[in-house]
Amino acid sequence: MYTSAKQLGIKLCRHCKLSMPEEQSHCQRCHMQVHSRIPQSLQKCWAFIIAATVGLFPANLMPITVLSTRGAPQYETIMSGVISLIKDDMVGIAIVVFVASIVVPVMKLVGLVVILLSLQFNLNLNNRQRIVVYRIIDIIGKWSMLDLFVLSIMIAVFERNNLVGVEAGPGATAFGAVVLLTLFAAKSFDTRLIWDKQLE
Ligand SMILES: [Zn+2]
Repeated sequence: MYTSAKQLGIKLCRHCKLSMPEEQSHCQRCHMQVHSRIPQSLQKCWAFIIAATVGLFPANLMPITVLSTRGAPQYETIMSGVISLIKDDMVGIAIVVFVASIVVPVMKLVGLVVILLSLQFNLNLNNRQRIVVYRIIDIIGKWSMLDLFVLSIMIAVFERNNLVGVEAGPGATAFGAVVLLTLFAAKSFDTRLIWDKQLE
C-alpha cells in the first residue's frame, strides 16, 4: 500500500511542477492557479464526450468533400468516399481513411465512457485495466490529426483522378470539431481519480 500526495496534504503545480501545501490556491513560483485534481474532471469529460458523440452524426452523414464537375456537384460522405476508394482500387488508402475517421474516434469515445462508467458505478474493472484503456486512448489521441491529414489526401486523390475542383464539405467541419472534442475529453480526465478510488 502507498500514500498519495493528496493524503499528505500536498499538491503539484501542473505548469512548473512545484509541490506545495493543499491549502495554497496559487503557485508561488509561476503564479498559476493550482488544483489538487482537475476541478469537475468527470463532468467536463462527460460534456466533451456527449458533444463529440453528437458531432459524429453530421461528420458521417454530411458530405465531407464536394466535387464540382461540369454537371451537378457531387457530394461524398466519409463512407461513400471509402467505397469509391475501394472501387478505384485504392484499398490501402480506403483502410487508412476508414480506421482514422471512423474506428479511431469511436474507439476513443467508447474507451472514455468505459473508464467513466466504471469509476462512477464501481463496475467490475480494476485500476490496472482502467489505466491501460486510458493509455491506449492517449496514444491514439496523438494520432488524432491523422484524420485531418487523411482528409487532405482524399481531396488530393479526388482532384487528381477527376481533374475537377474539390472543396471540403460541412461534414469536414463537423469532423474537425469531433477530433478536437475527443482531444479535450481525454485531456479533461484526471487519471489520478483512478488511483484515488483505490485509496478510498
Ligand atoms: Zn507553478
